[in-house]
Amino acid sequence: KKITPLKDQYIIASDSAFAPFEFKNEDNEYVGIDVDLMKKAAELQGFNIDFNFIGFSAAVQALQGQQADGMIAGMTVTDERKKEFDFSTPYFESGIQIAVKKDNKDIKSYEDLKGKKVGVKVGTESADFLEANKDKYGYTIKSYDAADQLYEAVKVGAVDAIMDDYPVIGYSISQGQELATPIARESGGEYAFAVKKGQNQELLQMFNEALTQMKQSGEYDKIIATYIADGK
Ligand code: GLN
Repeated sequence: KKITPLKDQYIIASDSAFAPFEFKNEDNEYVGIDVDLMKKAAELQGFNIDFNFIGFSAAVQALQGQQADGMIAGMTVTDERKKEFDFSTPYFESGIQIAVKKDNKDIKSYEDLKGKKVGVKVGTESADFLEANKDKYGYTIKSYDAADQLYEAVKVGAVDAIMDDYPVIGYSISQGQELATPIARESGGEYAFAVKKGQNQELLQMFNEALTQMKQSGEYDKIIATYIADGK
């Protein structure tokens, strides 16, 4: 099924660094699962997009303020977000997890985070989780705007641990970051494309149609396999 676009171009907001979903390659171009899915959706359904890689919390704000028509940024569907946004069919199953430096042998459970500093990216599911559990476990939270600052902080010891989506931690380890994940991840959490509630409904439908098509054609699996070795 083909839906007719109502705008000449749709502005799509995204994160600035969230590999393997969106990140700059050696040629300084943005690539990743989100980028490829969105570009392919636009191609299949015949609409034009302009990507803005402005950072996760900036993208959420841009969507709220209607400076962006849609958002794809490894964004987890939550009940809280559903009050403000309409989500597409989910396209990836995720979850959040604590990571520490590979040689850190002190942290094996949430209890071991007592008195420690935990870094996190602002406005994320991980930030909400850490905030909700900070009195229980007695750590302090350090917030960062972007992933490069967050991963640098744990590397140089500015924080004892970080919390982020597990496929993103996994990808960074596969790229040589010396991290370990001693605590079992929090499950649940599906990524979806989002529009502001009640707005750009044709864009949402076009994404959903294209996603169905990409799943049937094998294009979806091909995109995932380009960036994640075992599909997880
Ligand atoms: N999945 C997480 C969230 O929705 C993090 C997304 C991100 O950092 N780009 O909050």
